[in-house]
Amino acid sequence: MIDLKKLQVWFITGTQHLYGEETLKQVAEHAEEVAKSLSANKEISVTVVYKPIVKTTEEIFETLQQANIDENCIGVITWMHTFSPAKMWIRGLNVLQKPLLHLHTQFNRDIPWNTIDMDFMNLNQSAHGDREFGFMVSRMRKDRKVVVGHWQDEDVAKQIDVWARAAAGWHDWQGAKFARFGDNMRYVAVTDGDKVEAEMKFGFAVNTYGIGDLVAVINSISEDAIQNLLKEYEETYEMSADLKTGGERHASVYEAAKIELGLRKFLEDGNFKGFSDTFEDLHGMVQLPGIAAQRLMADGYGFAGEGDWKTAALVRACKVMGAGLPGGNAFMEDYTYHFDPANAMVLGSHMLEVDASLAKGKASLEVHPLGIGGKADPARLVFNVGSGDALNASLIDMGNRFRLLVNEVKAVETENELPNLPVARVLWKPLPDMKTGCAAWIYAGGAHHTAYSQNLTTEHLADFANIAGLEYVNIGAETKINQFRNELQWNEVFYK
Ligand code: MN
Repeated sequence: MIDLKKLQVWFITGTQHLYGEETLKQVAEHAEEVAKSLSANKEISVTVVYKPIVKTTEEIFETLQQANIDENCIGVITWMHTFSPAKMWIRGLNVLQKPLLHLHTQFNRDIPWNTIDMDFMNLNQSAHGDREFGFMVSRMRKDRKVVVGHWQDEDVAKQIDVWARAAAGWHDWQGAKFARFGDNMRYVAVTDGDKVEAEMKFGFAVNTYGIGDLVAVINSISEDAIQNLLKEYEETYEMSADLKTGGERHASVYEAAKIELGLRKFLEDGNFKGFSDTFEDLHGMVQLPGIAAQRLMADGYGFAGEGDWKTAALVRACKVMGAGLPGGNAFMEDYTYHFDPANAMVLGSHMLEVDASLAKGKASLEVHPLGIGGKADPARLVFNVGSGDALNASLIDMGNRFRLLVNEVKAVETENELPNLPVARVLWKPLPDMKTGCAAWIYAGGAHHTAYSQNLTTEHLADFANIAGLEYVNIGAETKINQFRNELQWNEVFYK
């Protein structure tokens, strides 16, 4: 569903006419070699496209305008091989709407000590050419990422990829549509927010559909399609005999398959990238979607429960940013605590909808009562989630801005069987420790709903926040509560 290699980052090299044709020819050859090498680098998930070197105000303006309107271009990388007087960049930077990465590199890694002369010096002067360009970008208060190092260094490629993934997540939001079945869960604050402001800032639209519209599609699903999906369920998951075809409780699974097909058709027909629903608005539906939401998330759709469109959109962006990396990106909720001082941790889950892409081993398809919503017992996948570094991210509406809050966590293996817990579950320890992590989260106003990522780092999220113009707040190994509270207060001033 998500193919990052189709997306392009344009490699634009700045220079000027001062040095003569021979130098410009070399600049162009070098720039093309660097762009091609980055594009071929296995660390970089997008296509890097060489663009002819730019030498005048007009060429710069024209190239950056083209970047704006090219639908596959998700961002531009700039590099000043020689000096490129930066007043030439003002007009172009003024109109640039795509994310910007400034690569501060040099064609030669080493100084050729025995042969270096003034020709070499004039050809390889990004050390000051990039400073001139950097001044202009700072002077214009434009956000960008600066990456420093030789272009063949693995670390440079990795940093470019992190930014490119963030740019891909941003690109995916532009024009994206998210469906909201019903409204917000009644009285809940943090999952609500300003959808108009979000569309202006982030480029995605959230619109509401009556649950009856979805029910009509669910009821239109053919018997053949339902039988095929039921066969897939039986082949893919552990299932008790009474849930399989002919079993006593098979009707629940049959209904769940029908709901999954209906939801999938609704989302495909409407070209949606994600959705939200609420157990308080299911009129005409037999069950709350459980396995349907779990499998749709695993296929790349953003989702969050109870009308939480912000988390649904964030989950989708994380899925795009993490495409092709081992591990998953999922809707998550801080559910309950283990407050043992020697081994404190959070149990994360949801009442049904834990993303199947997190499953460690074969998931079990089960049917249990739900306890809320007053509907029939829904089918859901139950599984454990593996250990390792992960993070929780929350997108909240602070009224005058949106905040992206990230807490790095260490996921741990479940040591106990949890035989009576009828949902998938994750255990993690927040950094820097349980008390500091939870207190900081609450001071920052973070939601109980998050995007849980096994493969994104804080650098991905910070780059994404920078591109999206989001306030970014991190809780990690170095967080100290007093300093953290000060940071929140300073940010209040910045965003006033
Ligand atoms: Mn919830």
